[in-house]
Amino acid sequence: LLQLSVPLNFIGFVYREIRQGLTDIEEMFDLLEVKPEVVDAPDAKQLVIGNGAISFKDVHFAYDPARPILKGISFEVPAGKTVAVVGPSGAGKSTLSRLLYRFYDVQSGTITIDDQDLRTVTQKSLRKVIGMVPQDTVLFNDTIAYNIRYGRPGASEGEVTAAAEIAQISEFIRHLPEGFETKVGERGLKLSGGEKQRVAIARTVLKAPPVLILDEATSALDTTTEREIQAALDIVSKNRTTLVIAHRLSTVIGADEIIVLKSGVIAERGTHANLLAQNGLYASMWNRQREATQAEEHLKQVREND
Ligand code: ADP
Ligand code: MG
Repeated sequence: LLQLSVPLNFIGFVYREIRQGLTDIEEMFDLLEVKPEVVDAPDAKQLVIGNGAISFKDVHFAYDPARPILKGISFEVPAGKTVAVVGPSGAGKSTLSRLLYRFYDVQSGTITIDDQDLRTVTQKSLRKVIGMVPQDTVLFNDTIAYNIRYGRPGASEGEVTAAAEIAQISEFIRHLPEGFETKVGERGLKLSGGEKQRVAIARTVLKAPPVLILDEATSALDTTTEREIQAALDIVSKNRTTLVIAHRLSTVIGADEIIVLKSGVIAERGTHANLLAQNGLYASMWNRQREATQAEEHLKQVREND
């Protein structure tokens, strides 16, 4: 009984914080799903954000000391640029984003934003400057407007509508029974993965953070949805320092640098053209995905001709 009362109180605490707009949504998931591993240093300062340059220097990390996940990762995302991380599942891609959001601290090496070590700043000030579009968005049991406005609680109705427009979700919302006032979430209208992701994008558009983390959906979205999401992400990431974890290579062609992560080390890096010329892991992933897409399109044509 005692064991149960603690988590329930904890959830109550988290819920109240959210209603007060104090806790960030990703922070809540962190609190609920992962035990809070990270504690602010007693002398932690506010992160002072400039242009939002990110640097990973020789980062080592393991969830379990016996099993290293990241083994000396170094790269930079210059202010306003986009760096994409690709690679096989389990390589450690999402772990990089969790470290940048400081769900965990590095075991050795450093991560900095505008030359400030993440371990020396408060988590709250860090998370204020980062917008995260996670792989799997969970919505609040509330209206769609509430879910979007969560990005900036003071936003006007016009701003919420504009954000939905940018996220390519306004057309969908207009067709809902009660438009923006439609209840969504577990106890309301259930949205598809792609729709939820676009709500998360709209939320991020409102937040307008200097630093953006995108963990693209793995689920096989249809091509139209994928294009819509891509268009929305392109708008949001423009002129923002962006770390994008990409499953579909077609979405990273324009990245300033592509990092190919494999078993916790950087196997290859460069632009799309560089990497194709290297004819290594990236090139083989590219060819495999292209063949799959061609097969998919061929199948579609055959069906349409039936
Ligand atoms: P990717 O995003 O490249 O698919 P992840 O960064 O999510 O990979 O995970 C890298 C490795 O770390 C995987 O082997 C995964 O099983 C492991 N892992 C991820 N999260 C945890 C966790 N919370 N505790 C223990 N191991 C984890
Ligand atoms: Mg992942």
